[in-house]
Amino acid sequence: MPNIIAGQFHSTSQRQLPAAHLTRTMQLLEKTCNELDTELENEINQNPALEMSEECRCPDCKKIIPSYPCQSCMTRLNPSGPIVYVAPRSRGSSSPEEYDEYYSNDNRLRDPETLSEHVLKQVAPSISPKERLVAEHLLARLDEHGFLIDHPAEIASYLKVRLTIVEKVISLIQRADPIGVASKNVMECLMIQLEMLEEDGKSHPLARKMLTDFWEHLGRRDFQTVAKKCKTSVDAITKVAQFIKRNLTPYPSQSHWNNSASATGRYYRPDVEVIKNPYDEDGPLMVQVFSASKGWLKVNSTVRTMVSKIEDPEKKDEWSAYLERAALFVKCMRQRDNAMKRIVKLIVERQPKFILGNDKDLIPMTRAQLAIELSLHESTISRAVANKTISLPNGRIIPLSTFFDRSLAIRAAVRKIIEEEKTAMTDEQVANKLVDHGYKVARRTVAKYRSMLGILPANLRARQLPRAV
Ligand SMILES: [Zn+2]
Repeated sequence: MPNIIAGQFHSTSQRQLPAAHLTRTMQLLEKTCNELDTELENEINQNPALEMSEECRCPDCKKIIPSYPCQSCMTRLNPSGPIVYVAPRSRGSSSPEEYDEYYSNDNRLRDPETLSEHVLKQVAPSISPKERLVAEHLLARLDEHGFLIDHPAEIASYLKVRLTIVEKVISLIQRADPIGVASKNVMECLMIQLEMLEEDGKSHPLARKMLTDFWEHLGRRDFQTVAKKCKTSVDAITKVAQFIKRNLTPYPSQSHWNNSASATGRYYRPDVEVIKNPYDEDGPLMVQVFSASKGWLKVNSTVRTMVSKIEDPEKKDEWSAYLERAALFVKCMRQRDNAMKRIVKLIVERQPKFILGNDKDLIPMTRAQLAIELSLHESTISRAVANKTISLPNGRIIPLSTFFDRSLAIRAAVRKIIEEEKTAMTDEQVANKLVDHGYKVARRTVAKYRSMLGILPANLRARQLPRAV
């Protein structure tokens, strides 16, 4: 039976319940660094027994060290693996001030955002500077519904870039929030939303057919005809219509994109930072997991001594509760940090090529696999990964969940299949081949991924084959 949390549970307090401890650690694990900052501040304000000292201490050996990471703990690590350590954001990080400065100086974050700004902020971290120019142009060419005014080919020729680049950026934009933005019309917009739902396993089996074949009937609410043609009940069709109405938005500009929690600039302050080794370019990667505290979090020893001397039983109880709560918080924070460290360490160990290179080098991994290897619960991995971001050596800041992005893995498989093809394979053939890799996707999904990867369709690739023998 795997542990729910990393490490062992050592209790210094007899009265403390493991259940409370567990719940608290899970809560903390789910929060981003920014949210933890607030949580920590509240806790310190409310509890006189909790203290943050200026000391720079190693979370592993607890010794006072001049700077992070701890040299003596580092030497005990596997020399070929990444150096992963937990440290406060304000220390040991290469450029935390830059992020903070960027964040606080960016007035747009305080003004009501435009749809274009909202989308650009999401896609910017994962595209090159050249693609960013394309994205900016595309987002400046949206109509009041959020649809793209120009044809992609026009944009390509105007910007003097390859059509595949424009198509790739459009694909990324369409998959940002609000999903379907920059589509050419209502139908394309709905289809993309449906595709995303399907990928999440949240679709309705009849939804696609309903949109493609019975769109007009649906508009007229002529469920009877549809039911007859689909050989099903009116009730079933009513349910599909409800599903569509509830989950899909025809006009991206009308969805509640500006209320989204994901919009609040979280990409600017990563929770984990990976840099190349500053002393040795080819040396192990340096990975800092940011802890929320700005110093060393501990139970105030003066308060502890004072409490032991209190004689009034009521007062003693009151202060003992403070002490207990402080001890619990410190322990849960350390366990949160430790779980993050273990998870991030395994991810970085497995994905050095992706971290240093390209999306195609992403090795498909699942939360379940990670859970087994680390003897943790899958829910623990999910919480640790949720809403967190990681900054890569090239400056890209991506969601930690990218490492588990199934579509990215499928895209990588599509690329691999096409790279290894002897004659140009059609999207249909690629889709069939994907089954061998364990992925069952539709032809049009292959076409979509192919264009996101900037790969030409088979008839155009055929001219370039055969490649070097
Ligand atoms: Zn140490």
